[in-house]
Amino acid sequence: MTLRHEVVIVGAGLAGLRTAIELAENCDTAVLSKVHPLRSHSVAAQGGVNAALSESDSWQDHAFDTVKGSDYLADQDVVEILAKLAPMAVIENERWGTAFSRTEDGRIAQRPFGGAMYPRTCYAADRTGHNLLHTTFEQALRLGVKFYNEWFATSIVRGPDRVRGLTALNIATGEVHGISAKAVVIATGGFGRIYGNSTNALINTGDGCALALRAGVGLKDMEFVQFHPTTLFGSNILITEGARGEGGLLFNRDGERFMSRYAPEKMELAPRDIVARAIRREIDEGRGFEGGYVHLDLRHLGRDRILERLPGIREICMEFAGVDPIEEPIPVVPGQHYSMGGIDCNKNGETSLPGLYAVGEAACMSLHGANRLGGNSLVETLVFGRVVGKAVLDYIKRTGDPADQDMEEEAFRVRHELQAMLMSGTDYLPAAIREELNRTMDTNVGVFRSRESLEKALTRVRDLRQQFKKIDLGRSDKRYNYAMVRALELQNMLDLAEPIIMGALAREESRGAHWRVDYPRRDDSRFLKHTVVTLARDGLKLHYADVHLGMFEVKERTY
Ligand SMILES: Cc1cc2nc3c(=O)[nH]c(=O)nc-3n(C[C@H](O)[C@H](O)[C@H](O)COP(=O)(O)OP(=O)(O)OC[C@H]3O[C@@H](n4cnc5c(N)ncnc54)[C@H](O)[C@@H]3O)c2cc1C
Repeated sequence: MTLRHEVVIVGAGLAGLRTAIELAENCDTAVLSKVHPLRSHSVAAQGGVNAALSESDSWQDHAFDTVKGSDYLADQDVVEILAKLAPMAVIENERWGTAFSRTEDGRIAQRPFGGAMYPRTCYAADRTGHNLLHTTFEQALRLGVKFYNEWFATSIVRGPDRVRGLTALNIATGEVHGISAKAVVIATGGFGRIYGNSTNALINTGDGCALALRAGVGLKDMEFVQFHPTTLFGSNILITEGARGEGGLLFNRDGERFMSRYAPEKMELAPRDIVARAIRREIDEGRGFEGGYVHLDLRHLGRDRILERLPGIREICMEFAGVDPIEEPIPVVPGQHYSMGGIDCNKNGETSLPGLYAVGEAACMSLHGANRLGGNSLVETLVFGRVVGKAVLDYIKRTGDPADQDMEEEAFRVRHELQAMLMSGTDYLPAAIREELNRTMDTNVGVFRSRESLEKALTRVRDLRQQFKKIDLGRSDKRYNYAMVRALELQNMLDLAEPIIMGALAREESRGAHWRVDYPRRDDSRFLKHTVVTLARDGLKLHYADVHLGMFEVKERTY
């Protein structure tokens, strides 16, 4: 049976929910999520959300820091929208009930974050995402948004010239449905779990990006993968940048505050790409502790401040590393954290396929360029959720209902494909393929890359894609078949690994988070460009697109 809505949003994290809130009063809006909305990855965000709220700060300074942090690859028109609308987005959420931490005189407190000129990051202790997601979800419920929870989007349905809807698997029943819609918004978050050493939730498998690629839409700047400098040694759970914002210091095993060698002015508060490379280098050159980590020391902040500002971090350290940061330094190592690349779209979230929009971490509007500043992602979801919602509303007012026949055909095709997957070979276990994919990406497409390591990764990923054709899913029951869900996620990750590696191989320079040991300089003459990868009949194709420059001159980046 084909279901019908005017707009379907895939993803119930902050980006999807904020988009839904913008639309709900004006049109029939549905949100589809493979997990309950409050288990979306946004709930785990710790450190905070950026907005130039204080008198000493300004939207222009926020914009400048973002463009410089991006290593000049951000589109400056997109950055301008973010910086101008950020204060409103934060205040809107405060009025909806987000319990921001406060200064003594009652204002929203702001902490310093890497690469920012002023303390600009508003926070709710170290549980900012938790607070924001709950208030945003409440607003979406209040406005009567229709939720399909535990539904997995399986394909985008396109007519000759526009989107017609999508297909989705109801995980509980195992049935595949067509959902017809005038517009589809992809808000499925990042694809961090392509890596093994990642701070991301296990559900961050980039499904929406893979669906868009298969529907003929480009993926942009996929080679720019952010590695967070401080993840807990052993588990890669995030230790928020807020820990350094509150004054945390980094030491190697010789007791040296090594950041003085890499960013003498900003030290621990340099942008993430610089701090991550510094830590990796210390470890690789033998100045890390045994096993391969450095220390993040919070002890000098004192018990009261740690308990007030970083209670969640203390809990994580105690539970997962047996370390109490009040008494001992935290063992940290860089880990994959954020996907700067994503679905190629403009500042309104429009893709090359009319009616298909993208927002949040799944999208690449080119806000973060080659390196995202901490605190800019939560605000991106809130600001651009609103902007994209408005653009979608305008589009559906001008657009007629989609034809239905393609929906049924496509749902039939997907049912057939899933059935074939259940019946397929017995040669390879999906979990083993996933582990090998993770290992390949961790080892060869990490903080430092080279032609040799990338070519090795490409060959391995292509092998794994062949193996995937003969996977063994085990039991064949359709209901709550999580083996099937995990296999669909794996298929999506395998499809995304290639564009990441292709982009990284072609970009013969070092910029932001993409560091080529064989090309250790930024090369504006060849690569002040966005990479776009599309799927053509005969495979993946790569081309470059111009960066939107503007008020800030392209310069060398020093901190
Ligand atoms: C540990 C951690 C801490 C962070 N802390 C901060 C911070 O302090 N400040 C900051 O600015 N940024 C932070 N970030 C980044 C930020 O949290 C994310 O970029 C942001 O929350 C992404 O929101 P989103 O709505 O785009 O996606 P998500 O919150 O990831 O939501 C994705 C949604 O898509 C759904 N979905 C996915 N695939 C499918 C499918 N096939 N079918 C149906 N539904 C699907 C999921 O169910 C989910 O509802 C942090 C990131 C991590 C990993």
